Amino acid sequence: MDDSNDLWINFPKYSQDYIKGIKEFIKNAFPKVAVGEEMLCPCRNCKNIKWKHRDIVYDHLICSGPLSLYANWIVEVSQYRVPDYECNDEAIDLENNIDFGDNLEKMLHRSNGLNSDTKKFYSHLEEGKLPLYQVCTNFSRLTFIVRLYSLKCVHGITESGFGDILELIKEAFPAANIPLSFNAAKSIIRDLGLDYKKIHACPNSCMLYWGENEKDEECKTCGLSRWVVVSKTSTNDNEAEKVPRKVAANVMRYFPLRPRLQRLFMCKDYSKLMSWHALGRKKDGKLRHPADAEAWKNMDALYPHFSSEYRNIRLGVASDGFNPFRSMNINHSTWPIVLVNYNLPPWLCMKIENLILSTLISGPESPKNSIDVYMQPLIALVLKHMMLLLIKHFVRS
Ligand SMILES: [Zn+2]
Ligand SMILES: [Zn+2]
Repeated sequence: MDDSNDLWINFPKYSQDYIKGIKEFIKNAFPKVAVGEEMLCPCRNCKNIKWKHRDIVYDHLICSGPLSLYANWIVEVSQYRVPDYECNDEAIDLENNIDFGDNLEKMLHRSNGLNSDTKKFYSHLEEGKLPLYQVCTNFSRLTFIVRLYSLKCVHGITESGFGDILELIKEAFPAANIPLSFNAAKSIIRDLGLDYKKIHACPNSCMLYWGENEKDEECKTCGLSRWVVVSKTSTNDNEAEKVPRKVAANVMRYFPLRPRLQRLFMCKDYSKLMSWHALGRKKDGKLRHPADAEAWKNMDALYPHFSSEYRNIRLGVASDGFNPFRSMNINHSTWPIVLVNYNLPPWLCMKIENLILSTLISGPESPKNSIDVYMQPLIALVLKHMMLLLIKHFVRS
């Protein structure tokens, strides 16, 4: 049994074999023993009691070498063969380096065996990758459409106005690779899963005209009509001729959650991060994330079936009113309901790009307790798919 001297771990620390062995060890050990971004360093100085970042463990094992007690274990681990998906070096860069553009690329390579919605999504992404015009480097077709569409929404440009702008751009720049009508642009946005649904509501926030009440004409609780009649001044006459027109008295906007969540799992890096709360978290009793808290553990104990699948989604709900017109109009407020994806690590879950806008409520005053009424579409989805756990924490202004 004296051939142990032939093991790479006994070779000089600058030798190719030794360095290769250490690399293999870290690649295999990290996914298994790391907690968060760190693992216990088995080097001579850290003695497997100090938590160190992956790069530091590597440095220590090259510079000071392993504690002899751990030498055999290190050799053993270095010989594991793990499936490809577990040993990717890109995982270390995730914290600071999530590149959406790059992820889109990766998503495009995984488009086999998907449902038709998803195929549409990918085909739009493929199309969207085309440059806006030849030799254009700073805009793809897709980024341009999305930017233009967001301007439409921010400035309240009408649909026909948006269509006219598209036509003008096309006329002035025939080489521009853009959709030719509002509807064509809208369908691209919709297939990306960025669309929203308008749902009518009682102005007193008693009920939604949704589900079984979708066709109702007046509120079941207070009797108020679903519609207000506004008069539209006809333009083809000098006299102000009034044409009555029915307009919904109160409209909320609901942004379907399912496509948004599906997008997360289409991306390899995000899909892996969705288990962070269970697999990547450092479990040392300190509070850094809701997953460290008692309430989370209680829910796990209450719903073991739900919690046994780490990728099941746990969302926080937050809402706060603001007045889009500042003090210009104190009779109006907008209440967004925002979802926080708590499967993700703390450095990502509160980033603006990871917050999910679920519902927009606007009206003369805050919905107060009737916010529950507006949350019905969201809650229905939650119950139907049994995939979410809601931790309710409303922020009050
Ligand atoms: Zn060390
Ligand atoms: Zn009502």
